[in-house]
Amino acid sequence: MLPAAEAEAKILALVSSPTEAEQVPLGDALGRILAQAISSPLDFPHWDNSAMDGYAVRYADVQGARAEAPVALALTETIPAGRSPTRPVGPGQAARILTGSMLPDGADTIVIQEVTQREGNRVLVLEAPTPKQFVRHQGSFCRAGDSLMGSGLRIGGPELAVLASAQCVEVPVFPQPRVAILSTGDELVTPETALRPGQIVDSNQYALAALVRQAGAIPVPLGIVADQPEALRAAIQSALARANVIVSSGGVSVGDYDYVDKILAELGATLHIRSVAVKPGKPLTVATIPAQRGVEPIYFGLPGNPVSALVTFWRFVVPALRKRSGLDGGWAPTFLPATTRHALKAGGQRETYLWGRLSTTPSGYEFELASGGHNSGNLINLAGTNALAIVPVGTTLIAAGEPVQVMSVG
Ligand code: AMP
Ligand code: MG
Repeated sequence: MLPAAEAEAKILALVSSPTEAEQVPLGDALGRILAQAISSPLDFPHWDNSAMDGYAVRYADVQGARAEAPVALALTETIPAGRSPTRPVGPGQAARILTGSMLPDGADTIVIQEVTQREGNRVLVLEAPTPKQFVRHQGSFCRAGDSLMGSGLRIGGPELAVLASAQCVEVPVFPQPRVAILSTGDELVTPETALRPGQIVDSNQYALAALVRQAGAIPVPLGIVADQPEALRAAIQSALARANVIVSSGGVSVGDYDYVDKILAELGATLHIRSVAVKPGKPLTVATIPAQRGVEPIYFGLPGNPVSALVTFWRFVVPALRKRSGLDGGWAPTFLPATTRHALKAGGQRETYLWGRLSTTPSGYEFELASGGHNSGNLINLAGTNALAIVPVGTTLIAAGEPVQVMSVG
């Protein structure tokens, strides 16, 4: 049984980052990973402009202005945002200017309107500005050709703002990983089916497809596979034709009907991991399958128990998907220091993950254990889970009020 951190490192070493890129329209780029560095086509700001509503002046004219000795300037024009100035500001002149408007030639300083007094076609300046005040100079934020963003960044609202400003209307992104999802088990039926004795609903198919999507990948749900070697072989082969990550649940324990590892071996796969020292989730198969062409597919055989399947997906599959999606780092889960509101119990043999909710309090993060049973077969108290508290190997109790490390899964 491999410790969790070693399993994670091994999995990340098996997964390669993408190399190809595709173009998507700016409006479809949310959540995608940038595949190339983006450089600015323009200077930012594009031209000298005003940071305030006021008057564009020549500093030399107004450096001596005081309330008792105002300087009167003749107004040339009003420059609203979005229009170019039509004439320069000469000595003894000023232009009315609004925030964001282009600075007219000749002017070098903005006097804010609060320290002026308007008199028809003249403005009285009542206070001396500092030289160049409230002028945003062309190129002072960035120069044309400067790098705006590096490759490997996930595109969110702030990145979209930068891309839009740079008029990057076709965005180079990495292709999303396609993840085939198989549910193995003779007892499984779809949620629409009336249950007969002994049957249970295939909830993993839905849960795993959701987590795949949340990880920025494309789920390819392939349904329920019977516990028969032939059916499993056919299902894995069909998954290989459609995806380069395969996630199955069930059939990886040592039961009489657990065929996953055997079929993988028959298909020429290399089995890198067969069990990990975590609870829930001990049986976990990670294999790579020789590729016909392109990237080598990776196979995750998760345990069937719904909670085990989720925990192992969050802990081990999400980092792999992050790397395969092209993120330039930050593949590992987010671990946070919290205080537990309830006592956390564990067997002490394996790293134990208990599910619940993380919230922020004035003194930091607090973990609230989901009420009810914490065994891997019970999915009924999963709703609302946004974090897993981790009880390390060798610890059997973390008392209420004590610190605990928590993995964020929200
Ligand atoms: P297995 O790992 O195949 O031995 O399955 C362990 C337990 O998880 C069994 O009680 C199954 O009924 C349950 N289980 C397996 N697959 C699923 C699934 N897709 N959805 C919900 N429960 C499942
Ligand atoms: Mg099974």
